[in-house]
Amino acid sequence: MAPTAVYYHPRFLEHDTGHHPESPDRLVACRRALLAGDLELEWIEPDPAPLADIERVHAPAYVREVRDMAADGGGHLDWDTAVSPASFEAATLAAGAGVLAVDRAVADAGAAFLLVRPPGHHALRDRGMGFCLFNNIAVAAAHALAVGGVQRVLIVDWDVHHGNGTQDAFYDDDRVLFVSMHQHGHYPGTGDAAEVGSGRGAGYTVNVPLPAGAGDAAAEAVFDALVEPLARAYRPQLVLVSAGFDSRRGDPLGGLAFSGPVYAWMASRLCSLARESAAGGPVCFLEGGYETALLADSVVSTVDGLQHEVPRPEAGMERAVEAAVTTTVRALSPYWDGALT
Ligand SMILES: [Zn+2]
Repeated sequence: MAPTAVYYHPRFLEHDTGHHPESPDRLVACRRALLAGDLELEWIEPDPAPLADIERVHAPAYVREVRDMAADGGGHLDWDTAVSPASFEAATLAAGAGVLAVDRAVADAGAAFLLVRPPGHHALRDRGMGFCLFNNIAVAAAHALAVGGVQRVLIVDWDVHHGNGTQDAFYDDDRVLFVSMHQHGHYPGTGDAAEVGSGRGAGYTVNVPLPAGAGDAAAEAVFDALVEPLARAYRPQLVLVSAGFDSRRGDPLGGLAFSGPVYAWMASRLCSLARESAAGGPVCFLEGGYETALLADSVVSTVDGLQHEVPRPEAGMERAVEAAVTTTVRALSPYWDGALT
């Protein structure tokens, strides 16, 4: 078994958000837990992404706004999204980690985990929000499409919040199949099952808003009914994950109830699916997760699932979860010619 690549840079700790749940302590705890385990890891320090890579997804004027705000001593992009003097460099390094990881995943098909901050999946083309400056996973996917010889990317987002920025970046594009499971009605308010993509991208955005309290059975049902059949029909060449762990039971900002082992199981399922279609990855991008001990445990679980096949956690299905998944299957089945039943 080849070691799992973990992308990390000490400058990520210098993105200073003040007294805030998205703090440097999150990465410190994850790094310590990964180093303490018996996982085989290859630690890689990324370079900053070239601005041209970031500007495939973000407006140049917005990129300049973040750079200038950092250079002028910092500020806020919205009420909860801070920019400090080191934030621009940290954000370009986080985006650079995705670009490098995708290049390597496409070349050697290996799995990777990006221990990065600031997170990315809420960042829109011309606006940061929800603790996110640049959309790391969207920048990486756009890079793979532009120069990696890739035409089909699967992105799975298991953060408790809807990955609105990623959805927006590829809403009318059939080269990215985006599947997000998230808590219904939670920040940022988007991600209804009826949002399925538009134009050429119709059928390539998949949203499963889950009822509060949904646990492992929900994650398993989303994989059984959507992720696995869609991946087999789509045959992605690259698999990316917005790995947010605020969907874990006990997270202070979330109301879902996933367990540590279910992240390992999802990661190991995505490894199998990537192998089936000879795809690179999975490349997992850290998004949310705000209780540091639970976060660190979830990250170790995920990396474990990238390295070993792990059993499916036993979980009892609830009616409300079943109904949510069925609603999404019904919304998507017209686009997938019998692949969804
Ligand atoms: Zn989140």
